[in-house]
Amino acid sequence: MADHVEGTAYPCNHCQAGMMNLRFITYLTRQGGELITVPGFPAWVCDVCGKREFDGRAVNWISTMLRPDAGQSPAPRPARRIPGKKRGADRPSMPD
Ligand SMILES: [Zn+2]
Repeated sequence: MADHVEGTAYPCNHCQAGMMNLRFITYLTRQGGELITVPGFPAWVCDVCGKREFDGRAVNWISTMLRPDAGQSPAPRPARRIPGKKRGADRPSMPD
């Protein structure tokens, strides 16, 4: 079990030469024939061989949210929210 601290690079177990660095990429998944893209998804990317490893908790979170049986639940489908997105810089300025 690889137990690494979030935000810290760790050695790649694929090429054994590079380091896995946390990057935010667009995660692609298919759900019931529908292609779902999740921008800003955390993934560990090797700087040598380019191997990608998604953060386990983030994958759990997204697969829970996109469960095929979600429609059978009495609760409405949760809105697709994108993690790690911060707003503030693009606030519209109000001329006074
Ligand atoms: Zn590698």
